[in-house]
Amino acid sequence: MAETNGKLRYVPTTCPYCGVGCGLNLVVNDGKLVGVEPLKRSPINEGKLCPKGVSCWEFVQSPDRLTKPLIKKNGKFEEASWDEALGLVASKFREISDKFGPKSLGFQVSCRTPNEECYALQKLARVAFKTNNIDNCARICHGPSVAGLSLSFGSGAATNPFEDLANTDLIFMIGANSIEAHPLAGRRILQAKKAGKTLIVCDPRYTPTARLADHYVRYNPSTNIALINSIMYWIIKEDLHDKEFIAKRTKGFEDMRKVVEKYADVESITGVPTERVKEIARMYASAKNAVIIYCLGITEFTTGTDNVRSLGNLAMLTGNIGRPGVGVNPLRGQNNVQGACDMGAYPNVFSGYQKCEDPAARKRMEELWGVTGLASDYGVTLTEQITQCGDPIKAMYIFALNPVVSYPNSNHVMRSLEKLDFLVVQDLFMTETAQYADVVLPGASFAEKDGTFTSAERRVNRIRKAVQTPGDSKEDWQIFVDLAHKLGLNGFDFNSPEDIWDDMRRVTPSMAGIPYSRMEKPESVHWPCPTLEHPGTPILHREKFSAADGLGTFFGLEYRPPAEVADAEYPFTLMTGRLIFHYHTRTQTGRAKMLHHEVPEGYVQINKEDAARLKIQDGEKIKLRSRRGEAESLARVTDEVGPGVLMMAMHFADASANMLTNDALDPLSKMPELKHCAVAVEKITGVQ
Ligand code: SF4
Repeated sequence: MAETNGKLRYVPTTCPYCGVGCGLNLVVNDGKLVGVEPLKRSPINEGKLCPKGVSCWEFVQSPDRLTKPLIKKNGKFEEASWDEALGLVASKFREISDKFGPKSLGFQVSCRTPNEECYALQKLARVAFKTNNIDNCARICHGPSVAGLSLSFGSGAATNPFEDLANTDLIFMIGANSIEAHPLAGRRILQAKKAGKTLIVCDPRYTPTARLADHYVRYNPSTNIALINSIMYWIIKEDLHDKEFIAKRTKGFEDMRKVVEKYADVESITGVPTERVKEIARMYASAKNAVIIYCLGITEFTTGTDNVRSLGNLAMLTGNIGRPGVGVNPLRGQNNVQGACDMGAYPNVFSGYQKCEDPAARKRMEELWGVTGLASDYGVTLTEQITQCGDPIKAMYIFALNPVVSYPNSNHVMRSLEKLDFLVVQDLFMTETAQYADVVLPGASFAEKDGTFTSAERRVNRIRKAVQTPGDSKEDWQIFVDLAHKLGLNGFDFNSPEDIWDDMRRVTPSMAGIPYSRMEKPESVHWPCPTLEHPGTPILHREKFSAADGLGTFFGLEYRPPAEVADAEYPFTLMTGRLIFHYHTRTQTGRAKMLHHEVPEGYVQINKEDAARLKIQDGEKIKLRSRRGEAESLARVTDEVGPGVLMMAMHFADASANMLTNDALDPLSKMPELKHCAVAVEKITGVQ
């Protein structure tokens, strides 16, 4: 598939960063990456890239890549052969599993890894150890989307594609800052606004996205349900709801209506005057086609699943589901958040969301995989696995994740990892988490292997190998195949990622119709796509919802305050967020010169009034304390956050927001409350 132009080769692939899934060519000269070029033919990014996409090749050739397997002996890492390292992993996991049972193991998969690798590792865990203790890091970003949209609509995925924004009349964004976090989705929003569509942005922060809005609504952090219930109250009160859609296509309306009756005036909770709520309600309900877009400002709360279901309620109340220009669309932060869940790297489902508890689904998988005794329980989720380190979890396999920096309450994570008998970390670099490992396995970057990522819009995009892996590092799918052979497993005779994808298609009805040959063009295919003749499904729920009875479900949802609120001892509310120049724990973007140059260190946004009261100047070093730990960072004095609210980016290990964040969980999705905790602030030194 590689194109050539003189000495240069152009290899079409997909950006490894956010869930927009932009197409690009990796430019290769003499076996080395020398740059990227946006794919002009891509219907997703139309020849454009954001700063992260432009720099996405740089970390690949970083001199500090891991190049050999490492085994810790007497507290120090020593280089080892693959045979020795994988032999040790296989024997330790088998020994611990035999002695303590399937619940003694934990498998954690990153959403930045290709579908084929997510599928292979969950198959290995389920087949070799009969455990469902496998989860991916969607748990700490869009777990509530999977849970909430499944409960409301029967499918835990975005309803409409990005390009469909051209068909809308009104965009209702809440808890999403796409101009920074998903810039090429932000470009679509900008295009829609320029074409005369109305843009409403609800956000506690006056973000770069909020600055573009026709109507900006600042509301108090973590009051989403109160605000949405009030919007629905006024839609019903003013008789603007879609009675025909509600009667024909939904159930539970009366339960929901009774609850929202109590939410006429929510100014004391949300800070939004009732007249403003009425205006927003009228605009949303009166638009011919209105779409809802949301992100982590909805999901990363102990009420995350209810927040998502509230948006489902709002869309169904006005009949804005199942046609062009409408829908409910979560923006996925990592490139393969959608795919990692689709592949069954999840504790209660096989690939394609086939439930492990369903005897018929289990029997079918056992027949197709040629095994017996697959586990039926709901396995332990990502963050709960951390809490269970030591008892009952004795051994853990962490694939391309950096929990010490990216999970809430870092001190708790570090103490937990120390309790394990055996830890394997498979990654590109010696991360903060890899330091805790007994065995470190060097994997491959997106540029060094074939495979697929599934974007936020359910479009399955190809990635293609452009260069070789450095040193003795291996393509990750190959590591899993080799490990499966060490464990003596059948059903892992894969010679390529395409073999693994075809094995997945064989057992997954919703993706059976998408072989690699249908992904050659940049437009590719949206799942569900059950047969080779099926065109794919860009828009969900057209005639009926994906639920078994075909109906969408309203839920009566009460507002609940966050798990920890500001008080006299910890008087500020800390929110976390993303910056345009960085990605997660900066393992990759921190190694790209331009991105590092733009934002080399973390900072905390603090409101001008608070800064003046505490005599903190812009650029001054400050210390933040929560009940879980402390972190130092630089103050950025701004009006982007309101009084009493702070915002800290999630990316920086040396000024880590997760030293402070709260690991209290949403009871339904087990999402930690990353977006809301109480902190105290003090200044340290003079201007830097
Ligand atoms: Fe990559 Fe997302 Fe930027 Fe596109 S918008 S170039 S997918 S980081």
